[in-house]
Amino acid sequence: MDERLPDASEATCQRRARTLCESHYAESVRIDIVTIFPEFFSVLDVSLLGTARKSGLIDVAVHDLRDFTHDRHRTVDDTPSGGGAGMVMRPEPWGDALDAILTEQSTVIFPTPAGSLFVQKQARELAGREHLIFCCGRYEGIDQRVIDYTRTRAAEVLELSIGDYVLNGGEVAVVAVIEAVGRLIPGVVGNPDSLVEESHEDGLLEYPSYTKPAEWRGLETPAVLLGGNHAAIAAWRREQQLERTRRVRPELLGEG
Ligand code: SAM
Repeated sequence: MDERLPDASEATCQRRARTLCESHYAESVRIDIVTIFPEFFSVLDVSLLGTARKSGLIDVAVHDLRDFTHDRHRTVDDTPSGGGAGMVMRPEPWGDALDAILTEQSTVIFPTPAGSLFVQKQARELAGREHLIFCCGRYEGIDQRVIDYTRTRAAEVLELSIGDYVLNGGEVAVVAVIEAVGRLIPGVVGNPDSLVEESHEDGLLEYPSYTKPAEWRGLETPAVLLGGNHAAIAAWRREQQLERTRRVRPELLGEG
C-alpha cells in the first residue's frame, strides 16, 4: 500500500465516523447570509438542509443588503476607483449590515474567484463553528475595505473560491459551501458512516457505486460486490479509488 495514503479499512472508516460525530460541534449552527437577492436562498428550504432547518440543527437568516442603504434608490454599487469597466459594491451598506449581525465569535466568508480554493477539509472545519456569515458579492465584487475592516472584528474572515471560473454573483457559491458544510453537521445526514467513504474525505476520489439489478442492459455489477467477502470488497474499492484518482485527478496523489 502507498505509505502516503491512509488505510481505508472498515475499522478506520468507523473510527472516522465516530470522530466526525463526537468532536466539538455546536448544538445548532447559526448562518447569516447577506445578499441583494434574498429569494435565491429558497433552495435552503428543501432536501436535507430544509429538514435540518426545521429541526433546529441549522438556523439560517437571509438579509437583504438593500435594507441597509439610506438613499431613495437603495443603491449598493458605484463606479470603480481608478476607472475601469463594471461597478463595485459600496462599503457603507456592507458595514451597516455586518454591524447588525457580526460578533467576535463569527466566521465571515466572502466568496470570490480571487480567494483560496474551498476544499472538503475546510468544510469539516466550518461545520464546527457556531456562527457563519456569508457575504454575497455582485458586479465586480465588494470594496476591499469591507473585508479588511471585518478582519479586525470577526473571529476569522475567509475569502473562498469554489473553482477557477467566474460566476455572476456569490449566491451560487454560498449555496455550494453551505451544502458542503451543512451535511457535515451531526444529525443532518442520517447515517454518519455515509460521510466517511466519500470523495475527498481521505484525499482520494470515491470508488464507483452500483445497486440492483445485478445485470442492466447487458452491463453487469462487478462480481466481487455480490460475493459477500467484505475484505475482498474493501480491497477492490481501495484499488478503484486509487485507479480513478490517478486517472482523473493525479495531482491529488502528488502526481501529474
Ligand atoms: N471581478 C471579480 C474577479 O475578477 O475576481 C469577479 C466578480 S464576480 C462577476 C461577482 C461575484 O461573484 C464575486 O464578488 C463573488 O462573490 C462571486 N463569485 C464569482 N465567481 C466565484 C467563484 N468562483 N467562487 C466564489 N465566488 C464567486
